Amino acid sequence: MLDFIATLFSTDVALDLGTANTLVYVRGKGIVANEPSVVALKKEGRNGKKVLAVGLEAKEMLGRTPGNIIAIRPLREGVIADFEAAEEMIRYFLIKAHKRNTFVRPRVVISIPSGITQVEKRAVKESAEAAGAREVYLVEQPLAAAIGAGLPITEPVGNMVVEIGGGTTEVAVISLSGIVVKNSVRVGGDKMDEAIVQYMRKKYNLFIGERTAEEIKIKLGNACPEYDPEETIEVKGRDLISGIPRVCEINSYEVREAINEPLNQIIQALKETLEKTPPQLASDLVDRGIIISGGGSLLRNMDLLIRKSVALPVTRVDEPLFTVVKGVGWLLDDVRLLREVASD
Ligand code: ADP
Ligand code: MG
Repeated sequence: MLDFIATLFSTDVALDLGTANTLVYVRGKGIVANEPSVVALKKEGRNGKKVLAVGLEAKEMLGRTPGNIIAIRPLREGVIADFEAAEEMIRYFLIKAHKRNTFVRPRVVISIPSGITQVEKRAVKESAEAAGAREVYLVEQPLAAAIGAGLPITEPVGNMVVEIGGGTTEVAVISLSGIVVKNSVRVGGDKMDEAIVQYMRKKYNLFIGERTAEEIKIKLGNACPEYDPEETIEVKGRDLISGIPRVCEINSYEVREAINEPLNQIIQALKETLEKTPPQLASDLVDRGIIISGGGSLLRNMDLLIRKSVALPVTRVDEPLFTVVKGVGWLLDDVRLLREVASD
């Protein structure tokens, strides 16, 4: 009975716990927060640390911190790098979601990278419970993405989703509300940024930061530059030899060359998944094609590159940064499906 009353009044919350960005969805309201998955910690004493900031505020500190402050991304490569920081992050976002009625214990659905271990899953669950959640459900990211993309996942047909995030790319074939084949690789937008940093260093002796690299990728990155007019951009950095700031110009073909390796790894992960897909489901994909989502799918012509590589139709979802959170958010209204797709 008490539980029934709690259900009536609670603000049920869904979280997309991403390697780069965390999004929060509140039942009846939609997306209420979208912030970087970053935690700033201050080292105290020998092993102690104190959380200074989470989210946007913490990202501002990245790369600008004095020695005793570190800004970390707890889920950077799709695994939990720092349990305490992950817990603080979950707490921060849950409190943000229900700050108006903190005393009501919400049902919480969290999308997690599909590569995380049983121990890590338990840690996520316990963190949410410690932050006041009444019931916690974990949903693997590709399933959440498929739901958010509006795919008919409960039907006996093959649906393929490729979710390209910051730290990971997750590929899955889904049918009858379950993942039939999946593959998760630690390659995504971050590896592209790192590759651009390396390229500038090797080719131009220019040292740039990862945020500059990300800007270059977003402005000029193109998976198939030959389909668009050539573009150039001025890049500011520090000369590796003289140590003095300098500007250099690069074009879209050079950026493509820089990110070739991570792009190949993503294509490879996709091909491996296709090879493992049972023939009946594989034949569904010939007609239904592949759905791509996540921030990395925003790279220009990413859909084209995949289509050329595997000869299947490819569609990028609308608003690829919101697909996963929409998926978990919608599950708040469909408890039966939620119970079916939640992982143990
Ligand atoms: P996650 O789910 O792992 O948190 P996101 O889906 O939020 O990741 O995607 C973040 C990644 O998407 C970052 O690496 C970011 O640089 C990249 N990204 C965002 N917009 C674009 C764009 N227009 N072109 C290329 N990459 C993009
Ligand atoms: Mg995400």
